[in-house]
Amino acid sequence: MGEKRILCVGLVCLDIINVVERYPEEDTDTSFIMSDFSKRNIDASNVRWQTLGDTPCACCLVNISNGARTVTLYDTNLPDVTANDFQNVDLTQYKWMHWEGRNADEQIKMIHKVNDYNNICPTDQRITISVEIEKEREDLYQLFQYGELVFVSKDVARHLGYNSSAEAVAGLYPRVKSGAYLVCAWAEQGADALGPDGRVLHSPSFPPETIVDTLGAGDTFNASVIYALSKGQTMEEAITFGCRIAGKKCGVQGYDGIVSGDLHSFCHE
Ligand code: ADP
Repeated sequence: MGEKRILCVGLVCLDIINVVERYPEEDTDTSFIMSDFSKRNIDASNVRWQTLGDTPCACCLVNISNGARTVTLYDTNLPDVTANDFQNVDLTQYKWMHWEGRNADEQIKMIHKVNDYNNICPTDQRITISVEIEKEREDLYQLFQYGELVFVSKDVARHLGYNSSAEAVAGLYPRVKSGAYLVCAWAEQGADALGPDGRVLHSPSFPPETIVDTLGAGDTFNASVIYALSKGQTMEEAITFGCRIAGKKCGVQGYDGIVSGDLHSFCHE
């Protein structure tokens, strides 16, 4: 068997950034996303094809002077992935699974299935579970207790009364399960993490010379932290790596050209 992989459970959305010359023609948006996956070597074999609803689509305006964005999401009623869909996933292929908090009740059933698998497989074959709580929705907060790594967004943290990532990880830590890490990113202030040893770890941000586009900085941060941890880095190294890559992302339009120079060698070790 080849190297084990990282599975992401969530939803893909086509972001149409303003300055486009031509909008994707009707019904070509799904193939646009699939060809993007394939170009980036992202295995899409577990994608659940729905018969109802349309491809989620967002129109994004990026402010050229500071990279800030305004997103208009067109809700297409696409059903979320269910625990039943998840039955078909071959767990032996994965070393890490990440859930983007959406339909929490179903997602918890999936996580239980992975926990059951972890309880009977050899320790070195276990799957690490991470979750992200990005939206200010009460039903998602139950996910705090389900990941060994929990990402909470600054929007949720603010909503729950915190004014910085350090305050948020300290204040919300009692909600995570024993031994877990809680991570919160906070735009130009960087990110903080707190784990079982009670030490709040901080990384500053690494702003590019010019901020071009911050759309997806949070996802870039999460992916980079997971990547670094899955390669055996410490949490302190992982949040620093997350901030460096997310900072690079803010300096380019989209995702091409993020990785260069020293970061390139790290990513391809
Ligand atoms: P999002 O709003 O997409 O969820 P966050 O504000 O959580 O993104 O930021 C994620 C990470 O991206 C931050 O920890 C930081 O490293 C980087 N980042 C975001 N905005 C900026 C910025 N203006 N300058 C530098 N780094 C940034």
